[in-house]
Amino acid sequence: MEKAKSRNPAPDRKRRLKRWAIGAYRLGMILAALACLRMLPSEGRALDPARILAEAQNILPGTASVGDPSDGLYPLLGKDGEPTGWATSTFPQAEEIMGYSGASELLVIFDPDRTVKAVRFLSSQDTDGHVAKIREDPAFWAQWNGKPEATLGAPAAPVIVSGATLTSEAMARGLAARFGAKGMGQWFPEPLKLSDVRKWFPEADALTDGGYPGSYSVRKGGETLGTVLRSSRMGVSARGFNGTSDVIVVLAPGGEKLLGIALLGSRDNEPYVGDVGEEVKYADGFAGKTIAEVLAEDPRESPSLFTSGASYTNSAVVESVREMLRRHQSDEAARGFPWKSSLAIAWIALGVGLAFHKSGKRRNVRTAYAVISVAAGIALGWMVSQDQLVGWGANGFGIRNILPLLVLTAVAMLVPAFTGKNVYCSSICPHGAAQTLAGQLVKKRFHLPPKIHAVMVRIPWLTLVVIWVLAFVASGVPFAYFEPFETWSSGFVAFVPAAIFTIGILSAFFLPQGYCHYGCPTGALLKFLTHSPSAWTRSDALAGIMVASAAIFTALQ
Ligand code: SF4
Repeated sequence: MEKAKSRNPAPDRKRRLKRWAIGAYRLGMILAALACLRMLPSEGRALDPARILAEAQNILPGTASVGDPSDGLYPLLGKDGEPTGWATSTFPQAEEIMGYSGASELLVIFDPDRTVKAVRFLSSQDTDGHVAKIREDPAFWAQWNGKPEATLGAPAAPVIVSGATLTSEAMARGLAARFGAKGMGQWFPEPLKLSDVRKWFPEADALTDGGYPGSYSVRKGGETLGTVLRSSRMGVSARGFNGTSDVIVVLAPGGEKLLGIALLGSRDNEPYVGDVGEEVKYADGFAGKTIAEVLAEDPRESPSLFTSGASYTNSAVVESVREMLRRHQSDEAARGFPWKSSLAIAWIALGVGLAFHKSGKRRNVRTAYAVISVAAGIALGWMVSQDQLVGWGANGFGIRNILPLLVLTAVAMLVPAFTGKNVYCSSICPHGAAQTLAGQLVKKRFHLPPKIHAVMVRIPWLTLVVIWVLAFVASGVPFAYFEPFETWSSGFVAFVPAAIFTIGILSAFFLPQGYCHYGCPTGALLKFLTHSPSAWTRSDALAGIMVASAAIFTALQ
């Protein structure tokens, strides 16, 4: 055998090169699909011309059709093809502007001279009750009527709906952002100033970046005097009666003891804010406490730290402070030993090592590693899934937060593409490992009749295609509902993933790897990378056609 190898090195090398070339092509197809998704303009996914037409016909009755958009503006056309006006969505510029719990999309309809005829509601991820209040308020919707397009980007004091201030203001800010206003997503745009921390550090001469978003070092010369955390820059948004508050927490050197807190601003109602502001100023109940003491206290059982007359705003401030301290602690910890990431990478490396070492073939070793994978799945909740891949394609990702998941995904894709071994499915995947362990508990195995098997094995492929087509043509689809993996990270919260999870695991007791064979679209994607490793197949041609169609679709948006 060795002799034959050395006599014919060229065919071996040729075969290996062919396998790598085919693997690279398959991986390239997946990356190209992700790139197309990334390049898809978000307004192309969000706006439905039929919806625009229906709204426009109520405002401009002569409108018969909607033309192709340019720069997000859709021409409205009469029967004779002459323009009757224009329409545009406030997305994508308003997508980042949150009300109570999400962004809202409005439709702006102009006459042919680009003067606003009407503004209409399209969709909102915000609280239903607030949105309903705004929809019933004609003064809110009429505030833009008659204004020329050129004036809409000037940030003015908008008409706000009482009882839904945050949502209505977010909608108005979103509209201003759509027409060029800057800084609309920032509720508290003022930077932190030395005067904000003078009370604690009268000698300070500089505020510098504290190492993570929302933290600042207070300095004098080269010396650090303390740390300041700012809620609006940390993304902490505890809401009071009617809005969020911008709170700073001031920490002594060492970062463990609180010197005090201050309220820089609030979207909450007067006079509550005034009351809390005064209390914070003169009777700061946090001063002198350690982070551990503040976090150990139950705010519902502690006597009020501020004033009794402002319970909502008061609670919002207390909750903001606690959340900021929690994040400060976890960020400090993350900058120490990253144990979670290290364990995750050790688990992945062990899985890859066993896949290529002969000991990985031993049943007891495989069982032990399956137990480790299940434990890792429960503890970490990190899994390769279509929801994650589509999300990364559409929105990108931040390496700092998901390095282990990035490593896991890279291993799942690169190893099969270039070695032909589906190491993720064969050992690492916690859901696959759980099925393996379930299967070992019951001796009697059940196999589907060949005809049913032949139909069922197509389901994962079909699901995979449906997911990716929807990723391009529809918006807001909860892709996590196509797979069971969300249940590993968030528990039995969402019904559909929990049902797929339960059925998959229960069936594995009798049907070996039943979910893997008959349900898993991620498994199908990884199988695409490993099937017939050195040969060009019909699936490769089909993938090429699908990715080319996705590229054309993206280019046309
Ligand atoms: S087929 Fe799906 S569930 Fe099964 S091991 Fe692979 S990724 Fe995990």
